[in-house]
Amino acid sequence: MTNLTHNLLSWYRKNRRELPWRTKKESICPYYVWISEIMLQQTNAKSVIDYYKKFIKKWPTVYSLSKAKLKTILFFWQGLGYYNRANNLLRSSKIICNEFNGKIPNTYESLIKLPGIGEYTANAILAIAYNKKTIGIDVNINRIVSRIYNLNTTNNREINKKIFNLIPNNNSSDFMQALMDIGATICKKKNVNCNICPLKKNCLFYIEKKRINFESIKKRKKKFLFVFLLKYKNKVLLKKRKKTKLLNGLMEVPNYLLNNKPSLKKVKKIAPFDFDWNIAPGKLNSRISNFDLEVRFLYAKVNKNFFLNNKTWFDEKDIKKVPISSLMKNILIHSKPF
Ligand code: SF4
Repeated sequence: MTNLTHNLLSWYRKNRRELPWRTKKESICPYYVWISEIMLQQTNAKSVIDYYKKFIKKWPTVYSLSKAKLKTILFFWQGLGYYNRANNLLRSSKIICNEFNGKIPNTYESLIKLPGIGEYTANAILAIAYNKKTIGIDVNINRIVSRIYNLNTTNNREINKKIFNLIPNNNSSDFMQALMDIGATICKKKNVNCNICPLKKNCLFYIEKKRINFESIKKRKKKFLFVFLLKYKNKVLLKKRKKTKLLNGLMEVPNYLLNNKPSLKKVKKIAPFDFDWNIAPGKLNSRISNFDLEVRFLYAKVNKNFFLNNKTWFDEKDIKKVPISSLMKNILIHSKPF
């Protein structure tokens, strides 16, 4: 058994959808499988459940169904749509009783001759009801296999070639139903939820998606923040941030944010005050939500406690009491030696 098959079957044992036509493997009833598969053609499982329960209650065997009046079945079918299915069920039930002793056929050649049974339904009955090594390929299973192998085709024959070797020898019933459940709940056309998918380790779609995400993370934008530390004795000069939605009212070290890295000489020219700025060695790297930040430090010591508009001197030991962002806190810790 391949790794993918093993993961799929273990997932199914714990997570399978409880559906009324799903009985224990030992007691799978081909009649129930046939009725459910016909009802599920063009209709989703949720809409089928109530109809299925009432149908089986009214016609519990293929014999009882074969004796029903078309009018009664059509009346029952109201709301389910595609009424030809009701007609085909009745016609097939008569053939099954007359030609197959009331047993749902267990070969592809016999099933495909019954009204209302096409390639998908025949294979689904063989796989689910009789555990034959085959699989019905509907649009969901087609999509899952195309994604797993990153195929450019949706041709059922190609899909079948790919999936055939994954079908376990003695459990195609669970294998097919597990894929049906994955298609209905996880590997959906939209909102595919790979993170909880048991097949992700073997799925090229997922591996490729992860690679692209990784590449885009690698290509995150980088910005450069130059901070200008002005120190007087044990005090550092902080200014109030400009009013923005974020971080409103916090204090910060005067700084300059640039998208590109300029030469440090050039940086001195953009300094907010005219001092003899020293360039501190080293840098601080930080990660902001959608970009990476490289922080570089320039510092100057002054010997006069002068007042600058909108800016205040803070004693370094009191910094804890000052409202500042965590980035600024890091910057101040980093700049202590300067
Ligand atoms: S990992 Fe994602 S794409 Fe691949 S089968 Fe699972 S849900 Fe589908």
